Amino acid sequence: MPAQRLDGRQLAAELEEVMAAAIASGLPRAGRPPGLAVLRVGDDPASGVYVANKEKACARVGLVSHGAHLDAATPQAEIEAKLRQLNQDPAVDGILVQLPVPDGLDDRSLLLELDPAKDADGLHPLNLGRLLRGEPGPRSCTPAGVMALLRSNGIDPAGKRAVVIGRSILVGQPMALMLQAANATVTVVHSRTADLAAHTREAEILVVAAGKPLMIGAEHVRPGAAVVDVGIHRKPEGGLCGDVRAAEVEPIASALSPVPGGVGPMTVTMLLLNTVRAWSQRFGLPDPAPGY
Ligand code: NAD
Repeated sequence: MPAQRLDGRQLAAELEEVMAAAIASGLPRAGRPPGLAVLRVGDDPASGVYVANKEKACARVGLVSHGAHLDAATPQAEIEAKLRQLNQDPAVDGILVQLPVPDGLDDRSLLLELDPAKDADGLHPLNLGRLLRGEPGPRSCTPAGVMALLRSNGIDPAGKRAVVIGRSILVGQPMALMLQAANATVTVVHSRTADLAAHTREAEILVVAAGKPLMIGAEHVRPGAAVVDVGIHRKPEGGLCGDVRAAEVEPIASALSPVPGGVGPMTVTMLLLNTVRAWSQRFGLPDPAPGY
């Protein structure tokens, strides 16, 4: 039987509807819609596409975008001042700094300026610490999107062996913590792991976030595993691919997320959800999407 398709586009559309309904019903009490500020510095072309997608998603769901696009030569102190201004802005519930920032700027100091309650990307050290401690707080969007995809497809990590390929602070590390919090037994493998396939073949849930096009094939996958492909790469001949050789893995996996249309749309949705959740909390409204 071919693998179940972990369809991020569909789940993103469903969660967008849930958020739109939560905004409509909370609006009379809140008196204003949720606001998301995406701060872009410089002209990284991929970032331009990502920011535009986030702003379009805000418009679909009913959030107000308070984006700012600063010149690449903007001094660090000026960007930090802008972030402090957004922290104080009563119309803004979520803020994110689009990464990467231009060379010469210190993205870690920028993240530290964010009000942790408005940290729409869940990357402030306080929120990463909350994740580590199992306390509530905004969660990193990409791994939270993976958890949502698993959940909505009936894949419960509890008691399962999960392997995460990659240990970045953006994806791999929070992914491992989230799977562990969901009671999986988690192994993290990375670029210095010896005999990668011996580990990945043990996985009942395999999350691939190595950032290496098409590196994972049938030889890495345990038959019946659920495989989530976080990688996203532009192919030289056009189109996109992930870290997984989907045609090879599809016949042996029980579930597989496509690229595009898997984790990518979920990342944007979780960004919006962090923002709508912050807005709901501010105005004492019910959680917009319990369990996600
Ligand atoms: P990164 O480069 O910061 O980290 C990659 C990790 O993979 C590192 O920890 C490294 O040790 C590990 N790794 C690299 N080569 C490996 C190998 N051969 N074997 C085992 N491990 C290896 O990247 P990242 O920011 O974590 O992103 C990973 C991928 O996910 C990228 O392709 C990125 O574009 C993609 N991504 C997608 C989304 C989305 O929304 N779909 C969001 C974030 C990142």
